[in-house]
Amino acid sequence: MTIVPNFQTAIDPAKLEKLGEVAVKVGLGLEEGQDLVITAPVAALPLVRFITKHAYMAGAGLVSAFYSDEETTLARYRHAPDASFDKASNWLYEGMAKAYENGAARLAIAGDNPMLLAEQDPAKVARANKANSMAYKPALEKIANFDINWNIVSYPNPSWARQVFPDLPEEAAVAKLAEAIFAASRVDVADPVAAWAEHNANLRKRSGWLNGERFSALHFTGPGTDLTVGLADGHEWHGGASTAKNGITCNPNIPTEEVFTTPHALKVEGHVSSTKPLSHQGTLIDNIQVRFEGGRIVEAKASKGEEVLNKVLDTDEGARRLGEVALVPHSSPISASGILFYNTLFDENASCHIALGQCYSKCFLDGASLSPEQIKAQGGNSSLIHIDWMIGSNQVDIDGVRADGSKVPVMRKGEWA
Ligand code: ZN
Ligand code: ZN
Repeated sequence: MTIVPNFQTAIDPAKLEKLGEVAVKVGLGLEEGQDLVITAPVAALPLVRFITKHAYMAGAGLVSAFYSDEETTLARYRHAPDASFDKASNWLYEGMAKAYENGAARLAIAGDNPMLLAEQDPAKVARANKANSMAYKPALEKIANFDINWNIVSYPNPSWARQVFPDLPEEAAVAKLAEAIFAASRVDVADPVAAWAEHNANLRKRSGWLNGERFSALHFTGPGTDLTVGLADGHEWHGGASTAKNGITCNPNIPTEEVFTTPHALKVEGHVSSTKPLSHQGTLIDNIQVRFEGGRIVEAKASKGEEVLNKVLDTDEGARRLGEVALVPHSSPISASGILFYNTLFDENASCHIALGQCYSKCFLDGASLSPEQIKAQGGNSSLIHIDWMIGSNQVDIDGVRADGSKVPVMRKGEWA
């Protein structure tokens, strides 16, 4: 086995370097002297190298990369003793949390095979995920609370490309996924950094309008959906670039098409149907239908992956409540590509979505100064999980509900009204 297999030839190196440059300049806004922690699948080494190069060119102090590998992950499920599945690398996550405390930025490269664990025992997958979530919590909080600048970009792993384009030979699948990633990440243009500045300005215009309206709820209607999502007290809409508590402006997700805010954990009523399958850590969960009462999911069904869905909902009390609601027009470039990526980073940007679990404290007015107790009092949810799933389509309408009960069209047939 070689570390850099020959499928690399399917990926345009000039565009890959632009993706690395955009990740550093737009995604992270990396500052001179700032350290950087990278996590990546081992297949993404060529992108890690470009990111590292541009990080040092931007004046990075020290770049440290940590790799995961699909075969070694599977070896655990095939051969490890049962007790292994309650373990996690606490020491590694504690070190990462310490690095972030000391001012390091964080970059994650996504691109693992979304179906890697599909054949494995769901109970073991759930235990391993829970142990990992608990160990990761101190580091994840620094990210979720936006203490530091962070970014996620994607690499066209061959195993992922085969999932997305099962009918193509591997090299053609990788080439096609690479081009889709480059287009969605806006690096297939002459000046990607300028393209991102314009895109960020557009997203700011939308979030600015919603912040001016101060809706108390959003009402979604469509096939299988009649859902009222109450918004948290003092919620604030965000989208595109935003400024972390360390003062650095970054674009956490590349790509991103969403404007999003915090729902009220106790004020979600009605039922909703998913509009795209959710790929959750190796399992495809399809045709989700859930019913909310008082903000809590009291009934959950899925045509595929229902067992995994119910395990996810049982993670903790907050797993049955919403931590995010996001608006994405149906005509977004990712939606227009018609590709199902089996990767939330892309698929959530094709559609309006909601997320089960942890809320983002930055989605509150003056969020940086609020204590966890204040966030809870204002309706912010807390959980070990944060899982986005898609509820938008060209058949879904959304109204903004004002405090006096009057309604304002926000989206019609999936487009901004
Ligand atoms: Zn989102
Ligand atoms: Zn989310």
